[in-house]
Amino acid sequence: MGTKYIFVTGGVVSSVGKGITTAAIGRLLKSRGISVVIQKLDPYLNVDPGTMSPYQHGEVFVTADGAETDLDLGHYERFLDQDLSGLSSVTAGQIYQAVIAKERRGDYLGRTIQAVPHVTNEIKERIRAVARESGAQVVVVEVGGTVGDIEGQPFLEAIRQMRNEEGREDTLSIHVTFLPYLATTGELKTKPTQHSVRELRSLGIQPDVIICRSDRPVGEDLREKISLFCDVPKQAVVPLLTMPTIYEVPLVLEEAGLTDYILQRLCLPFSQRDLHEWQEWVSRLKSPTGEVNISLVGKYVELPDAYLSVREALIHAAVAHQVAVSIRWVHAQEMERPGAESLLEDADGILVPGGFGDRGIEGKIRAVRFARERGVPYLGLCLGMQLMVVEYARHVLGWEDAHSTEFDADTPYPVICLLAEQEGVTEKGGTMRLGSYPCRLRPGTRAHAAYGAEMASERHRHRYEFNRDYEKILTASGLRITGETPDGTYVEICELAGHPWFLGCQFHPEFKSKPLEPHPLFRAFIGAAIEHRQRRQAEARALSVPSSHGG
Ligand code: GLN
Repeated sequence: MGTKYIFVTGGVVSSVGKGITTAAIGRLLKSRGISVVIQKLDPYLNVDPGTMSPYQHGEVFVTADGAETDLDLGHYERFLDQDLSGLSSVTAGQIYQAVIAKERRGDYLGRTIQAVPHVTNEIKERIRAVARESGAQVVVVEVGGTVGDIEGQPFLEAIRQMRNEEGREDTLSIHVTFLPYLATTGELKTKPTQHSVRELRSLGIQPDVIICRSDRPVGEDLREKISLFCDVPKQAVVPLLTMPTIYEVPLVLEEAGLTDYILQRLCLPFSQRDLHEWQEWVSRLKSPTGEVNISLVGKYVELPDAYLSVREALIHAAVAHQVAVSIRWVHAQEMERPGAESLLEDADGILVPGGFGDRGIEGKIRAVRFARERGVPYLGLCLGMQLMVVEYARHVLGWEDAHSTEFDADTPYPVICLLAEQEGVTEKGGTMRLGSYPCRLRPGTRAHAAYGAEMASERHRHRYEFNRDYEKILTASGLRITGETPDGTYVEICELAGHPWFLGCQFHPEFKSKPLEPHPLFRAFIGAAIEHRQRRQAEARALSVPSSHGG
């Protein structure tokens, strides 16, 4: 049987969870024993989101093979419980770059280069490449943005062509729309959906399935109306109410009969569903037996999408401990104000995530100091590890001006410095130390205990590193290097002896955490935070019990 393709487009408005819906569809097919790969086509002209501001784009996700991608790739990996390669992330920037490079090489033999067929051929080739490379039975392709966007047109045209080339039995078009609620009349409106389907049809794509996102229940009458006006069978009009947790979306879609419908339409074999583990995980997520507060000190906390994978990794780890995690988003710059320590007063654990640029750096260092001095469990990710070293140099060794050369090129104590391989690199796009590298863990350390293994493989995205010229002095009194590259070149993990749990890693463990496979470091961190909370509660109780000796 040839590869089957499912194309997911969006209509009406963006940000209604098209990425999560796509990820959920992947999960559902996988739960029926079908091999799946998911690909995102992003119509913007950046070659990748690696150079975009988090304000524009949220988190930059990193694949094992080192591609800097859209954050939806993170949803795909978490829902599929499967790693994806850089082939799963395509932007219009990459497409045009490739077409122009071919033109410059003379590959087109003097022809005029046009959107159709040259750009559309390049798009189709990328879609087929991910099918070939993965060998998956089904390729689910999500198109970023909404139908009607100018830059999205070549992608939709490529999909239209592919539907003819591959045949109707092998392709399926799913359109995700939104039904707005009008308070004045107290009803959900279908007109924007009708318009967006009309727009899609004007581009030559008749949707096979319409998924209607809404904040209120969708009645049968509305489904009938949409079915009639959009020419889609009623059973293929699938309501998707906003859920308390994104992890419930596969369960809702399964319940609505979507998987069966897709299998039937694509002539795929029916087999017993295996959603049991997922279902169980979701019920554990929804019935925690305790709580833990984690303060996340970052630069973009008003924009939680900037730390999406970190948030999800904390949730996965908390569920593993049967607790709910309450994340306190602490603005790094606010941590610079006098008395800002009070912002961390109720933290059971403190986390400093990755970051670039010097805004809020001193506030983050102050949070690290608070965690170290108060014995609060600490997890530092990438920049969070680098600042842990800077804080230690400044306040334990007394090197007041110690810093990373990223923020102070002339510091007398450059305890964090540019990676040797980065010397002379001037281009910004795709030039960091990226993707998976092995890490050897030192036995008898917290890192080793967390992983329960000698080796780990983790994803990176950085230019700076622990400066080994200072290793001797830095590690003489408490700071420990507990993970490094097997050849001993780079420091990958640092810990602090004599502290309940204080660990920083040069890599981004959050990218590997999955609901059914929570990351060992996050799991150990949450475990330490729970213990810290219990310790504090016991202390508070001891203080409130009046002394039996009176006095
Ligand atoms: N800015 C730091 C570096 O480039 C940290 C990067 C990060 O946190 N991802 O090394």
